[in-house]
Amino acid sequence: MSDRMTAPTGPVLVLGTTSSGKLRELRRIIEPLGIVCRALADMPGAADVDETGATFAANAALKAAAQARACGAWVLAEDSGLCVAALGGAPGIRAARCAGEPRDDDANNRLLLERLADATDRTAHYACHAALASPDGAIVATSHGECHGVITAAPAGTGGFGYDPLFVVREYHRTFGTLPGTVKDLISHRARAIRAISGDLLRHLRPAASSPPPTGR
Ligand code: IMP
Repeated sequence: MSDRMTAPTGPVLVLGTTSSGKLRELRRIIEPLGIVCRALADMPGAADVDETGATFAANAALKAAAQARACGAWVLAEDSGLCVAALGGAPGIRAARCAGEPRDDDANNRLLLERLADATDRTAHYACHAALASPDGAIVATSHGECHGVITAAPAGTGGFGYDPLFVVREYHRTFGTLPGTVKDLISHRARAIRAISGDLLRHLRPAASSPPPTGR
């Protein structure tokens, strides 16, 4: 059987998120690499992790390390958010719950539009920091990605999740809410962060596939 026909082998990668939107996108981006992914919800030992870090990078590392130790598995975690220039970079790491508990995307979007009602500068970017932890909780790789755009005056589209109906992507002049997921998977902050860490993912999760071909005959 050729290599292409064999099922991918190697350790499982747990996607360390409880967000269904993030999980969907991470699966779409990582599974084509031939890496076997599991949701945190399917891992009996998964822990609740408080995001007490002051930065995206700190929170990504915190989540990856804690979940890896709790599950005894490789974990890829990411922390992401929306940074709006006119709000001094807010909501930033507080993006998920800026309208309060529990997390409510519609309420967050309404609050963002209220805060920008008088703003002339509506530029913003999404940021995503990813961290890969080995089963003992050691962080073995990190990466980040950004995606730039502007915040619209009214929501458009139902694609994606979170602030996507309000976020007009610089490259397409349309919101992520109106663009297909296949486009988001090419240019999003999450896609860029995962691409930047994909060499490490392959090295640790698909060692046979990423080792150099044998030399000689
Ligand atoms: P986290 O779970 O603490 O990393 O918070 C992520 C939050 O940032 C989400 O709940 C959204 O509010 C926002 N966010 C991050 N990435 C995206 C995205 O791709 N689309 C829309 N909102 C996002």
